[in-house]
Amino acid sequence: MLITHAHIDHAGTMAHFVQLSGGSAAVMDRDFEQLKSGGKTDPVYGKQPAFQFPPVAAERVLKDWDVLTLGNIKMTALLGAGHTRGATTLGHHRGGRWPHL
Ligand SMILES: [Zn+2]
Repeated sequence: MLITHAHIDHAGTMAHFVQLSGGSAAVMDRDFEQLKSGGKTDPVYGKQPAFQFPPVAAERVLKDWDVLTLGNIKMTALLGAGHTRGATTLGHHRGGRWPHL
């Protein structure tokens, strides 16, 4: 499972489905610790229990410009830190051109 950033509305859902399915998680390297801490290391919301979620240890840690393949779909993970330290945009390779965002 892949998330674009480690806030509860994305990571909380991921935590639930990783636990339910036994699947693995992927996140940009700069959000790895925030995901692993269940949101407690979030510099903005970390002290607020309502914004915390079950911790997830991502098995795949992405770096800027990493290419991900899901079946016949290729995407490039682009670091766009700001919303969180590891906020990620996915560029979709399509028809020989990319990114298709
Ligand atoms: Zn967010």
